[in-house]
Amino acid sequence: MEYPNLLPRFLKYVKINSRSDEHADRFPSTQREVDFQMVIKKDLEELGLSDIHYNEKAGVLIAEIPSNVDYDMPVMGFLAHCDTADFNSENIKPQITENYDGESKIQLGDSEFYLDPAVFPNMKKYKGQTIISASGDTLLDGDDKCGVSELVTFAEYLLAHPEIKHGRIRLGFTPDEEIGTGAGHFDVEDFGADFAYTVDGEAPGKLDWGTFSAAQFGLDIQGVNVHPAVAKGQMINAIQVGINFQNSLPQNEVPEQTEGREGFYHLMNFQGTVDNAHLDYIIRDFERDGLEARKNLVKSIVKKMNDEFGEERLKLKMWDQYYNMADELKKHMEVVDLARDAYKAEGLTINEDPVRGGTDGSQLTYMGLPCPNLFAGEENMHGRFEYTVLESMWKAVDVMVKMAELHAERSK
Ligand SMILES: [Zn+2]
Repeated sequence: MEYPNLLPRFLKYVKINSRSDEHADRFPSTQREVDFQMVIKKDLEELGLSDIHYNEKAGVLIAEIPSNVDYDMPVMGFLAHCDTADFNSENIKPQITENYDGESKIQLGDSEFYLDPAVFPNMKKYKGQTIISASGDTLLDGDDKCGVSELVTFAEYLLAHPEIKHGRIRLGFTPDEEIGTGAGHFDVEDFGADFAYTVDGEAPGKLDWGTFSAAQFGLDIQGVNVHPAVAKGQMINAIQVGINFQNSLPQNEVPEQTEGREGFYHLMNFQGTVDNAHLDYIIRDFERDGLEARKNLVKSIVKKMNDEFGEERLKLKMWDQYYNMADELKKHMEVVDLARDAYKAEGLTINEDPVRGGTDGSQLTYMGLPCPNLFAGEENMHGRFEYTVLESMWKAVDVMVKMAELHAERSK
């Protein structure tokens, strides 16, 4: 259904720059995220939500839609992140194309850039709908201001429609998702939900509850630098050792040659001189066993190379980043099923393709808050071609309302 305040709210939010900064040494990484959270806080106060507070340590703005039934049930939560990706977010000028014809290019402002359905075929699905894009030199900030405006609109709708019966619902507006440091500070107890959903996904129907399991490692290589003229049998070129290590990994298991459920090793950084080299990698796999197997392969190659040198020239530092939330959610399938049933009730075709990445929910799920990810209507995230569709955002609110309703019915 149509939610008349959603678009104005979204347009207001995207004009507020709340980009995070991965190089900052403060938390949340930027003050402008907090400033944006304070704008949301004021809006929630005007709508009359309960228990509105900013948890400074967690960097999270929390609020509650109170229950309107006389029985208890597990508390449901919804989360959206307030920061935006690492791309220009200054002076965003959202541009609205109503009744899109499903085939034309859309010029981004007066820039040289176009949203072209030949390049972005998803656009064709939105014939007759309202497309919101940026103006060519910035993000749209739909990731995740779609989710933020949907949560606020959802609260507004429930408060205005007491005939829709629901339990307590907690809302959380989180920082620093894009730089991966927000969820680690999350305060599950203060948030006060038994299960939750991040609302930060793509087109209607997308439901994310499978993600990669992830590890990262750094390799430090100490060479021996002697004059090249007399190097024979003495020089150990750290760069060459790094190349040899890289060449010992399965050569086709890299991001650019994998898709779907295939995992990879990804060399992200390689710096070196003859004397010393440093390599940084991430490892990804959907299976926890697969992740462990990849980690073990790395360890065994390092060990073999060190053994051949007869000393520890390669120093390995490896750590786990997050795990596939599916492994944990399989113990709480009612959380996934609630979303599935609401999607179905709203006439959506469910798309559960696993995410080739992580979400805040991957960490939160392992912190004791089962947390799949719902669609928010985002398209082409993290760049100038980002757009969203008004009808997708309305649908996201429909789904949340339906989930609130179904959950209360099932808990009677
Ligand atoms: Zn996001």
